[in-house]
Amino acid sequence: MIKTYDVVIIGAGGAGLRAAVEIPKEYSCAVISKVYPPRSHTGTAQGGVCAALSNMEEDSWENHAFDTVKGSDYLGDQDSIEVMCKDAIRAIIELEHMGMPFSRNENGQIAQRFFGGHTKPADKNDPFGKRVPVKRSCYSADRTGHVMLQTLFENSIKNQVTFYSEFFVTELLMENGVCKGVVAFDIANSEVHIFQAKAVMFATGGYGRVFRITSNAHVGTGDGMALVYNAGLPLEDMEFFQFHPTGLWKLGILVSEAARGEGGILKNKDGERFMSRYAPSVMDLAPRDMVSRAIISEIREGRGIRGSDGTDYVLLDLTHLGKEVIDDKLPEITGFARTYLGVEPTTEPIPIQPTAHYAMGGIPTNVNCEVLMNEKGDIVKGLYAAGECACVSVHGANRLGTNSLLDLVVFGRRGGKAISDYLKNASFTEVRNDADERTKEIIAGLLNSNGTEKAVNIRTELQNTMMEDCGVFRTEEGLKKMILKLEELKERYRNISIQDKSKVFNTELVEAIELDNLLKNAEATVYGAYNRTESRGAHTREDFPKRNDQEWMKHTFAFEKKGSAPEIKYKPVVVTRYQPMERKY
Ligand SMILES: Cc1cc2nc3c(=O)[nH]c(=O)nc-3n(C[C@H](O)[C@H](O)[C@H](O)COP(=O)(O)OP(=O)(O)OC[C@H]3O[C@@H](n4cnc5c(N)ncnc54)[C@H](O)[C@@H]3O)c2cc1C
Repeated sequence: MIKTYDVVIIGAGGAGLRAAVEIPKEYSCAVISKVYPPRSHTGTAQGGVCAALSNMEEDSWENHAFDTVKGSDYLGDQDSIEVMCKDAIRAIIELEHMGMPFSRNENGQIAQRFFGGHTKPADKNDPFGKRVPVKRSCYSADRTGHVMLQTLFENSIKNQVTFYSEFFVTELLMENGVCKGVVAFDIANSEVHIFQAKAVMFATGGYGRVFRITSNAHVGTGDGMALVYNAGLPLEDMEFFQFHPTGLWKLGILVSEAARGEGGILKNKDGERFMSRYAPSVMDLAPRDMVSRAIISEIREGRGIRGSDGTDYVLLDLTHLGKEVIDDKLPEITGFARTYLGVEPTTEPIPIQPTAHYAMGGIPTNVNCEVLMNEKGDIVKGLYAAGECACVSVHGANRLGTNSLLDLVVFGRRGGKAISDYLKNASFTEVRNDADERTKEIIAGLLNSNGTEKAVNIRTELQNTMMEDCGVFRTEEGLKKMILKLEELKERYRNISIQDKSKVFNTELVEAIELDNLLKNAEATVYGAYNRTESRGAHTREDFPKRNDQEWMKHTFAFEKKGSAPEIKYKPVVVTRYQPMERKY
């Protein structure tokens, strides 16, 4: 069955919905989501969304841009970063006008709080001298993503968008550099549909589920990235995967950086505030890559706390903040500590460990969200990407907290605008009636297979080994091991079968297809990490501990080569006004 829309957006998180709100009503617009829209991962975002509003203290978009460049360890493209930080102020006020209920300061303005890596010069006349933390992150208690997603969902309904909820996209249709649509199946009955479109946007989120300990929802399997990679297009900078320092111990559920923004302190087994050793000026408010490395170093050097199951953690202490601040500003995350670990955060510190959190890499785009087909910057006509699945690149080698929700609304809108412009002159290209053949074969293959492998076993091994060999610290030896493991797992995947043979809400079928996508994302991640012989941002090679600007101020572009290692090419970083400096906090 062919369904026809001017534009099809895949993903109903913040990026997809912000784009949908921008499409004029005269064009038909469908949003496809594998979960019911408000269950998208954006709804779990806790801490905030940043902009230099200067509501609490003086700030500027230039301060924000410098912090983002420095936080990215100079891998972020500075032209895109300038676009994002400049537009941030307008974007937040726009959200307020759409009805997003922000927390307020004493003057009734949008309240702002501290977040890691957001700073301003201690002396205005010395912009590149000593810097101090600045309150830049706007929030709604610790439910910022939840209220943002609800607001955008309501506004998309108002904009008469058609939703296909619980539809799973399996394929991108593209020919001669022109996008034609996608193929998806309805999870309710496994029926396959072709969506023909003049323009397609991927807003499919991240792939944290490739790691064992992750803050990401179960849906975070990076399907969009894998589909694009599978269609012969590159993935950019996949080796840069952010570990958030404070996941609940053993579970990985996120304790937002807002907890440290409000004054929370990290402590080791001796009760020592260890961040003073690693980032003496901003301490617990250092960027995430640094704090995650610091925590693992403490544990490796024997200053962690050994849990009953033999794994180690450190402590996040909020007890000095008082019950009122905790209940008012951090109600949800402290609730998680009570529910899942049985810890009372008003009187006891919370056991935490780093958790796989955010993909800096993804589908390469330009600042108008047009997808690049190569490292030279040529675009695929009619294909767009925004949000966590995309790589503009504003986050470079390490994202600053609260810059992702900002990325969604700034680039979601820009993508929506670029699509609206494109639609003025675009026409439909022919789609064959049997364009859904491959998806039908995949589904039938899985339902009818007598293979001896189970998806759950392959997934667990993938997640465990990625955590060990491609996590916070990496070495050539570990990455070589990981490459061999991936070869083995891909081979075993060909022999999987599923027990549930039904076509109705077959979640085992969905998970099996998601696993294939996880394996593809892991491949691009691992090879990128293996090739990059330096340490930058979230990518730490113990055998190459220094950043090497001479050779590595460039973005990785990985192209799938079926049956062999991906082909890796590089694209230079865009530098406008900030020359690389040593990154100290
Ligand atoms: C726990 C947590 C807390 C966070 N807190 C913050 C914060 O405070 N501030 C901040 O800036 N950032 C935060 N982040 C990061 C930020 O929330 C995410 O990067 C961002 O929300 C991703 O939004 P998105 O629109 O790109 O995708 P998502 O919100 O992940 O949505 C992806 C969409 O794609 C759909 N989809 C995916 N695959 C398919 C498929 N095959 N077929 C059909 N549909 C598909 C899904 O159904 C979903 O609708 C947090 C992240 C986590 C995990």
